[in-house]
Amino acid sequence: MSELVTPQGFPPATGPLVDRFERSKHKLRLSLTDRCNFRCHYCMPEDPEWLPREQLLSFEEFERVSRVFITRLGIDRIRLTGGEPLMRRGVSGFVGQLNGLRELGLERISMTSNGVPLRRHAADLAAAGLDDINISIDSIDPERFRRMTGGGELDTVLAGIRAARNAGLGMKLNAVVIRGDNEDDIVPLTEWAMGEGVPLRFIEFMPLDARGGWQPQRVVPEREIIDRLAERHSVEATPRTREPATYYRVDGAYSLGVISTVSNPFCATCDRVRVTATGEIYPCLFSPMNTDLKTPLRDGASDDDLEHVIRGAVWRKGKGFAESAGYVQRAITMHGLGG
Ligand code: SAM
Ligand code: SF4
Repeated sequence: MSELVTPQGFPPATGPLVDRFERSKHKLRLSLTDRCNFRCHYCMPEDPEWLPREQLLSFEEFERVSRVFITRLGIDRIRLTGGEPLMRRGVSGFVGQLNGLRELGLERISMTSNGVPLRRHAADLAAAGLDDINISIDSIDPERFRRMTGGGELDTVLAGIRAARNAGLGMKLNAVVIRGDNEDDIVPLTEWAMGEGVPLRFIEFMPLDARGGWQPQRVVPEREIIDRLAERHSVEATPRTREPATYYRVDGAYSLGVISTVSNPFCATCDRVRVTATGEIYPCLFSPMNTDLKTPLRDGASDDDLEHVIRGAVWRKGKGFAESAGYVQRAITMHGLGG
């Protein structure tokens, strides 16, 4: 039997939220929906079947879950993701609900988005209490961008980035790098982001795509990303922190991150826990199992009961990518889990 199904000991009944490898958690990711306006090939199936709406947690249920995580389990950062989180109606209102939890210990409310809906929503989100947003942009070439996102228009993302900036939201950019798709974008995308004055993070392609297209040779490792940049710029590593990205100083000033989940995983310091749109707890992106939180929630569980379920789920968390390198068989892929 694998370690994953034979957890040692029991989780502590009180105190910080910890797993059996003594990693404490303080970041919660809520996936609000599996729906998306893009069809990025590295994430989404070609013809997705969306989850039925009645299976999704309501915003009231998400708020209850967040409250338990914050008041009983020490979570102080929440990130909203998806699918495309802004495909769900009423997200600004939900951000406002979360904003009301700051006095209970919530310090930061963030979002990850493909940027397109921000033209309409950035100002409302900022007014409701959103602190910052990560926007995905894999290429600065309109045709390459279209190919990677299954028809997305680069201009609509650039307009979203402008809207987020005008609204005063903190911002980072994310780009997945895939050999054969956009490795030639590494230098131009970095130079463009430097010109815009927005931090950029490259992400190694992870074996979590819905279409089975991942192959080890399509991963462009951190070393190669940095070597390509170093041909044109001075690039200096900075000491690694608990952040998932390793940061580099480009031309002495600009901060560039690389999230090297495949070539240099950060699992040993992982401080995150995820709840899907249908209320399943995934303690790790690479976890083959989940724990159902929706059933107890809808069956009238007390906060004590929910705390017990969450502590158990997190305790069973595996070591991470190193333990499961390669595809993980499970009922959910990246667009459902939220990256
Ligand atoms: N729709 C939003 C967006 O694209 O930013 C939020 C959800 S998306 C699943 C979150 C992040 O996961 C994005 O930055 C996306 O590029 C990344 N992602 C999706 N599939 C991936 C994969 N197979 N490998 C690495 N990153 C991936
Ligand atoms: Fe949609 Fe984001 Fe997945 Fe692209 S990466 S398909 S934008 S959820």
